Amino acid sequence: MIIKGEIISKSFKGRGHIIIRNGVIKSVQREKPGEIDIDAEDKLVIPGLIDMHAHFREPGYEHRETIESGSRAAVHGGITTVALMPNTNPAMDNIKVIGYVKEKAREIGLVDVLPIGAITKGRNGKEITDFEKLAEHVVGFSDDGSTPQSFRVFLEATKYAKKVNKPILDHAEIKELSGGTMREGKFSRRYGISGIPDIAESIAVARDVEVARYTRAHIHIQHLSTKSSVDIVREGKKKGAPVSAEVTHHHLLFKDEDLKDRSSFKKVNPPLPREEDQEELIKGLLDGTIDIIVTDHAPYSLEEKNIDIEKAPFGISGIETLLSSLLLIAEKHEINFEILLEKVTYNPANLFNLPLRGDVREGYRADLVILDPDKEWKVTEKSLFSKGKNTPFLGRKLPGVVEMTIKGGRIVYRGITFD
Ligand SMILES: [Zn+2]
Repeated sequence: MIIKGEIISKSFKGRGHIIIRNGVIKSVQREKPGEIDIDAEDKLVIPGLIDMHAHFREPGYEHRETIESGSRAAVHGGITTVALMPNTNPAMDNIKVIGYVKEKAREIGLVDVLPIGAITKGRNGKEITDFEKLAEHVVGFSDDGSTPQSFRVFLEATKYAKKVNKPILDHAEIKELSGGTMREGKFSRRYGISGIPDIAESIAVARDVEVARYTRAHIHIQHLSTKSSVDIVREGKKKGAPVSAEVTHHHLLFKDEDLKDRSSFKKVNPPLPREEDQEELIKGLLDGTIDIIVTDHAPYSLEEKNIDIEKAPFGISGIETLLSSLLLIAEKHEINFEILLEKVTYNPANLFNLPLRGDVREGYRADLVILDPDKEWKVTEKSLFSKGKNTPFLGRKLPGVVEMTIKGGRIVYRGITFD
């Protein structure tokens, strides 16, 4: 297969031809190599996106999402590799459940699934799972949705992670200090919505940085959302602590102020940032403090979400709006789109040792996306493949249409036009 288009990747930029054989990129070149199969002239050809933070809800919560609906949503969003968090029911704290998720994803065959094993059994924060047994089946360990509140348990788990050479992906939150619905500040007071103080996050971030420095284990801090958290990670990296960090696209596009309409579709944990937090998140992205951008795709049924904001569960369905969001973020914050693209392709591959992914390069897997950045699509219940329609973009037109997603040289998504 030969694809022609405007390529954006770490290794190759500009107009070129990608020759694919046996699911692998055989070469990337400027000259026309022969008969072109897919002419994506004037469109962008980029590496398949890698989302290191998503929830597909199966097993246990199939009314919110299944591995199949999640996979379809992922490829619609241009994502070909996705790391799944272990807060299923039962939790991904044992080989049986992890094996089930892997096998199911493989059968569906649309997207490569990287399971994240639970840090503690049932994610109860108390009893550490069998890291040695699970290590070869997972890309890392997390209790996402929470984190062990006990310093001793967290430290022990981190030592195990170091031993088996896998990262801890930490949802940094001190539960005793959180509670509440939105970020505490002038807007939470103005809107009369209960507030979550920023220290509920930053104290946990400080713990993580210090534990990483002490144990030399790689701790990846999930969804940073406050200025203070970014400062702490930046300082930790300067001191050589082996930490990395992520931010979600919704934390870069929406703010606490936007909760004026009390829409539970904007209720997310950690909560949407204040202006000064968002500015620092952008700075952190640009100076390398924040390594990657993730979706934290958290689908819910409309019945669960369409209730009073104080009672609704946290989470945004975001796997289909990542790529469009990157275009919006590039425009809103005046950032080069290429820099943002690296945060969802090259950087996660590099950070989590995912070989031969995240770049358009000879010998790499033919995971590719053809994107028309000039076209728009409307986010509707119908246009989303995810069962989770809980996105603040619902009803909005977004830039950037995924025309085709290719995984391992096979077309796994072909653009469908909705009105
Ligand atoms: Zn989380």
